[in-house]
Amino acid sequence: METRLYTVNDMAKAGCNDCQGCFSCCQGMGDSIVLDPYDIWQLEKNTGASFAGLMQKEIELHVENGLILPNLKMQEKTGACAFLNEKGRCGIHDFRPGLCRLFPLGRKYENEKLYYFVLEDACKGRIHTKLKIKKQLGIEDIRNYEEFLTKWHGLRKDLQTKIAQSSDEYVKDINMKFLRIFYEAQYTLEDFFTQFEERRKNFLSVIK
Ligand code: SF4
Ligand code: SF4
Repeated sequence: METRLYTVNDMAKAGCNDCQGCFSCCQGMGDSIVLDPYDIWQLEKNTGASFAGLMQKEIELHVENGLILPNLKMQEKTGACAFLNEKGRCGIHDFRPGLCRLFPLGRKYENEKLYYFVLEDACKGRIHTKLKIKKQLGIEDIRNYEEFLTKWHGLRKDLQTKIAQSSDEYVKDINMKFLRIFYEAQYTLEDFFTQFEERRKNFLSVIK
């Protein structure tokens, strides 16, 4: 059966009733909760920590098709995300990363457009309600956010293609610039999307 694709204004059966005590997708997730620059901006803005500070405990780096990316770090002792509190709730709910907001939905990019689909059987909650995807994501400026995600996805894919055809030295250099420009350089409190666009242009000019 073909997977049904939704847009952000559609309703999908992905509401999990406030999780009802379940925190299954906040533990044992390996390196799968990948963080994009918007997530880092949110974390920096709301926790006051820098990227380097978050790297001490809450996040780590992994490699995906040659590209180094940060992800939420599952803690050695508990096997859970560092932001999961003792009550089994997300301690950063209002500014949690995009993939946490999305679950149990997935994203698909087609012809520079963003679609959503339900990850069947992924959510361990028993009751699933129909919710507008826009409401589930709870992102204020959804139009700019989706535009950012689409550009980010395209940039990552292009880089990964380039990396596959490049020397080790070039791959190392590109990764250092990618990390520094999009993640390590502290974001200001101002509009994220303007900052991202400036960084994207800067990055494209330095990797030629
Ligand atoms: S598996 Fe489903 S119900 Fe459980 S924490 Fe994740 S989203 Fe909530
Ligand atoms: S940030 Fe919050 S929702 Fe996401 S994995 Fe950690 S505790 Fe769970």
